[in-house]
Amino acid sequence: MRTKIVAGNWKMNKTYKETKALVKELNHAVKELTLDNTRVIISPTFVNLQKASKMTKKSVIEVAAQNMHQEASGAYTGEVSAQMIKGVYVDTVILGHSERREYFGESDSLLAAKVDAALKNDLEVIFCFGEVLQDRKSGNHFKVVESQIKNALFHLDSNAWSKIILAYEPVWAIGTGETASPDQAQEMHAFIRELVAERYLSDVSEEVSILYGGSVKPGNANEIFSKTDVDGGLIGGAALNVDDFTAIIKAI
Ligand code: PGA
Repeated sequence: MRTKIVAGNWKMNKTYKETKALVKELNHAVKELTLDNTRVIISPTFVNLQKASKMTKKSVIEVAAQNMHQEASGAYTGEVSAQMIKGVYVDTVILGHSERREYFGESDSLLAAKVDAALKNDLEVIFCFGEVLQDRKSGNHFKVVESQIKNALFHLDSNAWSKIILAYEPVWAIGTGETASPDQAQEMHAFIRELVAERYLSDVSEEVSILYGGSVKPGNANEIFSKTDVDGGLIGGAALNVDDFTAIIKAI
């Protein structure tokens, strides 16, 4: 059975104080839940990563970083390495988010290097990809997603895939209030799984968790998560509030 995952991407939100308050509330809220085969991940900003990591030591909640530099160390002002992330007991990193691609110019080849650096340091990767509205309107969404995945991940050997989580996030659905319909999500997730099956053995494609992201809310989570190839969600806005995030975890 594939692992189900609800991951909260906090983006550039929450100060130190607010992080402490939300982690405390979340720790408390998840205690009440039965989390069968389900992982809960939160992803605060770098400055609050260590605190969140410490506060969740005894909780089922796991912590992920939102980005990472591909080099191990050196003259890269403002950047954070895989080793530094591991050093604060964080074992997962989100890579390839559309905001990193769009605002920070992260290309597929750069992301391939980041994925390699993460895996080399034993970090698990939540790898994000997805088409922009224009791609979908022109019917290119499958092609775009296929090239994003191939270019950044298909050089990996099959063993590496135990450390990869995929997150399909159509850019037109991120922070817009517009979600892909459950059928649109299922259609793309099935396509992705098939793509992975063609390149690797089917045990890789059957085991990889594929999350959906883009305006997942308590009101639509149930229906999206009910789809066969949707193994959970990467949640932005609704992860910033304990009640909404808890409701989404319950939906899975
Ligand atoms: P959203 O963001 O849930 O606010 O649409 C999702 C994401 O960017 O990961």
